[in-house]
Amino acid sequence: MSEDRSQQHKPQTMGQQYGRRSWAEPWKIKMVEPISLAGPEERARAIREAGYNTFLLRSEDVYIDLLTDSGTSAMSDRQWAGLMLGDEAYAGSRNFYHLEEAVQTYYGYRYVVPTHQGRGAEHLISRALIEPGDFIPGNMYFTTTRLHQELAGGTFVDVIVDEAHDPASLHPFKGNVDLNKLQALIERVGAEHIPYVSLAGTVNMAGGQPVSMANVKALRALCDRYGIKVYLDATRMAENAFFIQEREEGYQNTPIAAILKEFCSYTDGAWMSAKKDHLVNIGGWLAVNDHDVFEQCSNLVVVYEGLHTYGGMAGRDMEALAIGITEALEDAHIRTRVNQVRYLGDLLSAWDIPIVQPVGGHAVFLNAKLFYPHIPQNQFPAQMLAAQLYLDSGVRAMERGVVSAGRDPETGEHRYPALELVRLTIPRRVYTQAHMDVTAEAVKAVFDTREQTRGLKMVFEPKYLRFFQARFEPIG
Ligand SMILES: *Cc1c(COP(=O)(O)O)cnc(C)c1O
Repeated sequence: MSEDRSQQHKPQTMGQQYGRRSWAEPWKIKMVEPISLAGPEERARAIREAGYNTFLLRSEDVYIDLLTDSGTSAMSDRQWAGLMLGDEAYAGSRNFYHLEEAVQTYYGYRYVVPTHQGRGAEHLISRALIEPGDFIPGNMYFTTTRLHQELAGGTFVDVIVDEAHDPASLHPFKGNVDLNKLQALIERVGAEHIPYVSLAGTVNMAGGQPVSMANVKALRALCDRYGIKVYLDATRMAENAFFIQEREEGYQNTPIAAILKEFCSYTDGAWMSAKKDHLVNIGGWLAVNDHDVFEQCSNLVVVYEGLHTYGGMAGRDMEALAIGITEALEDAHIRTRVNQVRYLGDLLSAWDIPIVQPVGGHAVFLNAKLFYPHIPQNQFPAQMLAAQLYLDSGVRAMERGVVSAGRDPETGEHRYPALELVRLTIPRRVYTQAHMDVTAEAVKAVFDTREQTRGLKMVFEPKYLRFFQARFEPIG
C-alpha cells in the first residue's frame, strides 16, 4: 500500500471512524490459500467465455471472490477437528443429535429436519404447507424461496415496507413487514388462502437489511388474530440480531444469542441455509414447532434429501455445522463480520459511489441505476457492472437486479425491480482489510469510467433461476 493512498482514503483507523478504539478480528490465521490476479487479456477472455455472467467464471480466474458468502466461509480449527469425528452411519449418526441439540438450544424450535442446504428446506416447507391457489406474503422475495413457493402452486406477495425499495432511505429496519400491506392482502384473498408469512431477517435482496423485534412481535399478533403461521428464513438471523442489539431500544446489553432466541420465539419454525451464518461449506435445516408439519417434512425429506437423520449431509458436515452454530452466535464474531462489511461500505461512501444505505450485514450493494443512468434496465446495467468490475481487477461480484428477478410466470415479461444492484458479498473470516481496500479501489476505477460503458443483450436464458446460467453479449 502506498503512503499516498492510505493518507487519502484512510485518514483514521477503523476504530476511530466509529468513535472508539480499534478492534481486530477475534482469530488469527493458521492456514492460507494462495490467490493471484490474472492479466487484463486473460480476464477479457475469461469474461467473454463466461457470457458476461460472473457465475460462469472459473474460480481460478478470480482474484478476490465476492460472488457470495454462501459456503465460502473459513472454518475454525474446532470445526476442522469436528470433521474427524464424523459418524458416517446411515441412520442415527451421533452428529445429527449434536446438530439437533444446537438448533434446539440456540433457535428454540422443537423439531429439526436436516437438509443438504437452504433450498432443500424451502422445498419441504413449501410442499408441506402450500396448496395451489394460496398466497404467500413475504418481506421481499428471495430467488430460491419464491421459486419453491411458486412450484408448490402459490403466489408470492411482497409486503415489505416501502423504504426497502429505496436505496437511499436510512430507515434502521428496512427489512420490516408493512402490516398494512399484509392486512390488505388478508382482506383481499382471505386468511384461509394464506398458509404462512414468509419472513426473512436480514433481507438479502433489500441489501442485507434487518427486521426489528417490535416488528416481528406485531406481525405475530396480527397473524394470531387470523390463524396465520409465521415461518422464518433464518439464513442471516445472526446478523439481524446484531442490528437489533445495535439499533433497537432495550437490547444494547443483550447477547446476540438471546436476541436471536427471542426473535425465533415469535415464529412457528424456520429454514436455514447453514452455508451463510453457520460458517460451513455445505448444509441446512428446517425446524418447526408443530408436530404434524414435522411429520410431513420428515417424510418428504427421505424422498428428496436423504434419511431424516442426515438429509444429504455427511456425518462430519453435521458436526462442523453444530460447532459452527455456536461460533456464529458469539458477539465478537458477529461484530467483526458486520463491521468488515461496513468498512468497505464506508470507503465507497467517502468517494460518493452510490451504494444501498445503510450498509447491511453481509454485503455492500452498488446501485447500478446510478452508475449507468444511460443504460436502460432491459440492457442489464447491474449485470454489466459486475462484468466491468471483474475486467478491471479480477474482483467477482453478482447481479441483483432484473436478471435475478426473472420473468413474471403469468405474463412472461421481465420483472423490473426498483433495485438494480451489484452485490459485493463478504465471505466470513476469509479476507483482510487490505482486500477490502483493493476492492474499493476497483469499484472506484469502474465508477470513474462509467460513461463509456454500454449495456448487454441476453443471448441464452434458462427457464429457472436464470441469473445462474444466462449468457450475454455487449451491445455495439
Ligand atoms: C442462500 C439463501 C437461501 C437458499 O439457500 P441455499 O443454501 O443456497 O440453497 C435462502 N434464503 C436466503 C435468504 C439465502 O440467502
